[in-house]
Formats: sequence, structure tokens, C-alpha cells
Amino acid sequence: MTHAKILVVGSSNTDMVIKADKLPAPGETVLGGTFFMNPGGKGANQAVAAARLGGNVTFVAKVGNDIFGQQALAQFQQEGININYITVDAEQPSGVALINVNAKGENCIAVAPGANGQLMPTDLAAALDSVAADTIVLLQLEIPLTTVEYVIRKSYEKNVRVILNPAPAQILPPALFPLLYLITPNETEAELLTGIRVTDPATAQKAANKLQSLGVANIIITLGAKGAWLHTSSWLGLIPAPQVTATDTTAAGDCFNGALAVALAENQYLAEAVAFACKAAAVSVTRLGAQASLPKRAEV
Ligand code: AMP
Repeated sequence: MTHAKILVVGSSNTDMVIKADKLPAPGETVLGGTFFMNPGGKGANQAVAAARLGGNVTFVAKVGNDIFGQQALAQFQQEGININYITVDAEQPSGVALINVNAKGENCIAVAPGANGQLMPTDLAAALDSVAADTIVLLQLEIPLTTVEYVIRKSYEKNVRVILNPAPAQILPPALFPLLYLITPNETEAELLTGIRVTDPATAQKAANKLQSLGVANIIITLGAKGAWLHTSSWLGLIPAPQVTATDTTAAGDCFNGALAVALAENQYLAEAVAFACKAAAVSVTRLGAQASLPKRAEV
């Protein structure tokens, strides 16, 4: 097996979760919950997913000069992720998400992006200079769009394949689509990008057709428990998800994208890579938490 080379550019957050009977209303204090602190952020989740699955991962991100940033760096190192290109912002704090969860599992989330919002093209130049043509670049949308655009353009110039996971859903400049090797929206994100409501393989095919007409080379629309729709110029169809009992689908998409990057960096065909990503994500939904649920290679 070749050692995968993956460059993940994205967000790192600390999730602070209080689980209580009910969500507080404005002006109300709810007493009696339990507290958990978890590493999160789509970029970090995807970097950890890829590293656990055997990828040779470099993560480019920005954290604050605070305890959360230090903890995140230590955690990435423990996972075997290269952190040489993670920068520390002198002014902005590390990204934090405050999450309230009630007894029904409903939540209320406020995110302060902090240092994630300061990850600028100048912070990335050295990392991008270092990538070779066999690298897979993996991006999401929790950092400034100007930075996402810069990474896509630079990678395209260097003939490096980019996977864009367009999450959280956001409108994108049309000029970016032809520069992508692969885009991986879920149902909601596919709808925002195409205007087509996606609920099943038939509607995923319509949305993927639209993305293809906008210039994206390869499209994967993830369909939750149904699996993923793969759409290329030579093959299209549903790759079903293994049937499992889902406990917590947090970070299923992040696991899917990290796994996909690993398989593609190992030169697997797209259909094989999607099947591998579906297997990895299926394991992750059987376990609680975001990064805590991400499987190791042997478990997949
Ligand atoms: P989603 O973001 O919900 O579309 O999920 C991303 C991927 O995770 C899907 O394409 C599936 O491969 C996997 N997945 C999500 N939910 C489940 C589930 N309930 N059972 C099995 N796999 C799932």
C-alpha cells in the first residue's frame, strides 16, 4: 500500500457541550446539566479521520494563542498529523462552539470562528509550495472563502487534485467549479448549489448533472443511510451504505471525506474509494461523538 499524502486545509474548534433536560430560553438559566469538551471543526475532524485510516496527513489551520489551541495541537500530534503549517494568531482566540443539547437530543449551537476566520492565503503559501502532484487536497467551508479560492487555484495550477466538501452550505463562485477534481455535498448542500431538492438517488442524479454542467469533473452526493451517489463522466450510480444501527451521525460526513482522501491518495478508483468511505462512515455512526467516533483502518 502506498503511503497517502493528504493536505487538509480547514477549521479547528473546541466544542463545549452541555447536555441538560431542556434548552435554555432567552434570559433563562438551566441548572443540572453535564459538561463535555471535545475537539471539533470540520477541518480537524477530516484530518483526524484521514490520519486514523492510515493517511499521511498534513493539516493547515489557524488556532489562537490559548489553552484550546495548545490542546488541539497536542491532539493532532498524537494522531500522527503533521502540524508544521498550523499557525497561531496573536489576537484572535481559538475557534469555539457552545452547544446545548436537551433530553430529546435537539441542540442549539453558537460558533465563534476566532482564529479560523484569520486563516489567510499568506498562511498557506509554504504548505502549498511543498505539495507534489500525487497529493490530495481536502477543503471545507469553515475558513474564509478567499482562502478556499486561493487553495483551489494554486492546486489546479500544480495539477494537484482538490476535493471540496462544501460544508457548511454556501453559494460558491461559478469559476471555481471547473478547477475541482471532486465535490462532495450532502443533500442540503447539493440543493443550495443546484436549486434541486435532493432526497434520493433520482434527485441526486439530477443535482449531479447540474454540477457536471457547471464544470465539476466528479461529483459525490452523500445521502445519509442510503449511501452516496457517484457521478463521473464514465460511471454513475448509487454506492449503498452498509446497514448499521446509527447511534450518532455527528461527523459522518467528515469521516466520509477523510476516508475518501485516503483511498484516492492510495490511487484507488473513485467507486472503490466511495465504497471505502461509506464503510468508514458507517462505523463512525455506530459510536458517540465527533472525533471520538472516527475509526482506525483495521476497524473498517
Ligand atoms: P450524510 O452527511 O448524512 O449524507 O452522511 C455522509 C455519509 O455517512 C453517507 O454517505 C453514508 O456513507 C454515511 N452515513 C450517514 N448516516 C448513516 C447511517 N445511518 N448508516 C450508515 N451510513 C451512514
